Amino acid sequence: MNYPVNEIFETIQGEGCMTGVPSIFIRLQGCPVGCSWCDTKHTWTVEDQHKVDASQVIDVSNESNNWAELSSEKIIEIVKQYQAKHIVITGGEPCLYDLTELTTQLDGIGCSTQIETSGTFEIKTYDKTYVTVSPKVGMKGGYQVLTSALNRADEIKHPIATEQHIDDLKALLLQRNSDKVMTVCLQPISQKKRATELAIETCIANNWRLSVQVHKYLSID
Ligand code: SF4
Repeated sequence: MNYPVNEIFETIQGEGCMTGVPSIFIRLQGCPVGCSWCDTKHTWTVEDQHKVDASQVIDVSNESNNWAELSSEKIIEIVKQYQAKHIVITGGEPCLYDLTELTTQLDGIGCSTQIETSGTFEIKTYDKTYVTVSPKVGMKGGYQVLTSALNRADEIKHPIATEQHIDDLKALLLQRNSDKVMTVCLQPISQKKRATELAIETCIANNWRLSVQVHKYLSID
């Protein structure tokens, strides 16, 4: 299967329970969810005029709407050139695509896999893929967070700035009908002071975790 790849690069995971793990990020192009605070708006559309060669999406750090059509075999070939053994498939919205073939092949070369999704599209991955759902409620695109995505989640990483965001999260947790072990992480939106204070208070009250996007504090990708 081919995937529209916006960029592939190696860094550390900066968010959620996997914070600090050396990771290869594969960012897929395309997302119709429409979050107003999205920091990857350049990934929203997949336009023919921005299709480029593989070499132009590897180790690029500029925020570009370029993308390359890469097969899972080609992605495996690229991944093997790096040191990290943990692969994070992000976006955009990676669950626009069936990720089963890619995640299965990555497992086959000894890599662990993680996806980061809004939970608004059906999740299709290898069984052992670690699933981070960062649920997006009431966004412009009009998509609903799927119960199946909440049930499949290994962690729910919720961006918050206001009490309303916490109420939204609690409603989503009630929607879940699985007893799978799952961790809730609260992530303050845009490192704002009030959002961070609210996240800390709420994490302590509910025994949830704080996710602080350490890559932004360290000024790395
Ligand atoms: S789901 Fe993610 S990529 Fe899509 S608009 Fe929201 S924050 Fe941006």
